[in-house]
Amino acid sequence: MNADLAAVLEYLQGIGWEEIYAPAPRAASSAAVRPAVAPVTDAASVRPAAPKSAAAPAIAPTAPAVPSAPPAERAARLAEVGTEASACTRCRLAEGRRTVVFGTGNTDADLMFIGEGPGAEEDRQGLPFVGPAGQLLTRIIGAIGLQRGDVYIANVVKCRPPGNRDPQPDEVAACRGFLEEQVRLIAPRVIVALGRIAAQTLLGNELPVGRMRGSWHRVFGVPLRVTYHPAALLRNDALKRPTWEDMQVVRDRLAGTG
Ligand code: SF4
Repeated sequence: MNADLAAVLEYLQGIGWEEIYAPAPRAASSAAVRPAVAPVTDAASVRPAAPKSAAAPAIAPTAPAVPSAPPAERAARLAEVGTEASACTRCRLAEGRRTVVFGTGNTDADLMFIGEGPGAEEDRQGLPFVGPAGQLLTRIIGAIGLQRGDVYIANVVKCRPPGNRDPQPDEVAACRGFLEEQVRLIAPRVIVALGRIAAQTLLGNELPVGRMRGSWHRVFGVPLRVTYHPAALLRNDALKRPTWEDMQVVRDRLAGTG
């Protein structure tokens, strides 16, 4: 058994998959999912017919996604934006950070995860989702037949809020241009908002995660699904099942069957 499959099975067993669902999970076969997750090739592909959310996005796109540009060109521009962010002092979070955690992953990804902001370990390493919650996210990604390197992962704010407090609205506003550019250049087919803060920020509301998950939203012109933050799953096993259900929906959307 290879490491990826072992990780998927470990995650599925952790959420009590065998007790919840009788049929074998489709996600256990990455080959069944991956071929449908084709590289983005044109603008229409980032705007499939998904129902629009009633909630107005807090962060409106200033320009359309640019999937028609060659991937190398978009990756180069993304690197430029990352370099710009690395010296950013637009908000007070610059004062206490060790590193700017811009984002990581496939710059031509179909699936993008957006979290809230870097924690202590992320601040140290300069990478998002690298602590225990990040390891769980990697397993969740594996459970839908993908690898971490297949997706792109970023946060709403790129610098660690002191004491891991929630990012403030002015900090989110100061940082939103970077996130906007990331989404525009990567042009994912689906975004997953991880946790309450990321989802509230992206959707412009104050609803709990339980009210935002379960339906499709749209931000930056891209379909968005809300699910629980992996850190919340580490604290509460009961959230693993709904998270897995959310990720199945995302998997099916990417595969063109949902
Ligand atoms: S959080 Fe964003 S806006 Fe604030 S200093 Fe960091 S990169 Fe700049």
